[in-house]
Amino acid sequence: MTAPLSIFKCIECGKEYDIRDIRYRCDCGHLLEVIHDLNTSIPNASDWKASLNGRMGETAFFRYQDLLFPSLPKESIISLQEGDTPLYDVSHRFPEFGSLKLKHEGMNPTLSFKDRGMVVGVSWANDLGCKHVICASTGDTSAAMAAYAGAVPNMQGIVLLPRGKISPDQLAQSITYGAHTVGIETDFDGCMKLVQELTEKHNIYLLNSMNSVRIEGQKAIGIEILHQLNWKVPDWFVIPLGNAGNISALGKGLRELYELGIIDKLPRLAGVQTQGASPLYESYKNGYAELIPQKAKPTKASAIQIGDPVSYQKAVGELQHFNGVVEAVSETELMDWKAQIDKLGISICPNSSVAVAGTIKLRDAEIIKANE
Ligand SMILES: [Zn+2]
Repeated sequence: MTAPLSIFKCIECGKEYDIRDIRYRCDCGHLLEVIHDLNTSIPNASDWKASLNGRMGETAFFRYQDLLFPSLPKESIISLQEGDTPLYDVSHRFPEFGSLKLKHEGMNPTLSFKDRGMVVGVSWANDLGCKHVICASTGDTSAAMAAYAGAVPNMQGIVLLPRGKISPDQLAQSITYGAHTVGIETDFDGCMKLVQELTEKHNIYLLNSMNSVRIEGQKAIGIEILHQLNWKVPDWFVIPLGNAGNISALGKGLRELYELGIIDKLPRLAGVQTQGASPLYESYKNGYAELIPQKAKPTKASAIQIGDPVSYQKAVGELQHFNGVVEAVSETELMDWKAQIDKLGISICPNSSVAVAGTIKLRDAEIIKANE
């Protein structure tokens, strides 16, 4: 039997598990990371890189699959044609930067980057023969999971939401895509605990970001940005931080590109939180001292109203690897910058504007330099 293309590996103790095991944590309690044998899936990195421009007719996930999740059989893939989202150059309006570009992941089928993860997560559940998938959500994850589960014959999505804390539009998405949608009198972190209990007791596949298979799909955002930039690596990537799965995925994808020799330098990473939900920011200020969970305060950026980020340890690892920083912005700052970007004809949600507001703040503080 040939060696598997992918395995699970504990981020703390290094214990390895079969990729087809349905598990989200190591026996020691820490999260798992998916490790691929990329030298087998991409035997010649320069040939692979050169081939990508000729594959623009393929959906982004298929184009980058050898790097994203090579173990997933093609016949099990459920795609809604996610990806290939615009990278807007707004440098002309922001002369204080060397260059500034905005990746608009709201242009995905269910209007968020979560589709990038669900194409892998739901397809993998499909390949494993799971008939029920579940997530806790602040709105985006549930919309994406419900849509992709809806696209699989005989798969039922189950969504747990904090009652009254997500937008009516996002609630409608989950329901109309056919997921069993339950509102619970708690916050996101409370819903997340319940999801973990349910998946321990029942044969239901968990699709929150603690599922490291799903996270692999989100690597596509960084890879696609670099492809759009013709592999010229920017000085910084700035990204909102909630449950911290997305920055973990971004960092992992960039590391893999670098290890394959597809990019020749590493950018720095900046994560941005709201001031009312800033556990990672507080940890960063204390030299990544132990995470102190917070009761996250209400914010317009409700998708990142998370006080106890599941992927904290992974995110800190990536932030340290990429000489990263963490910033926090006020409600006024994030809504002001949402208005400014909307006026450019680029409609963004408050969660995304957190990254814009953070970028400006980091520039004002001279952490991002004038030529960057
Ligand atoms: Zn372990």
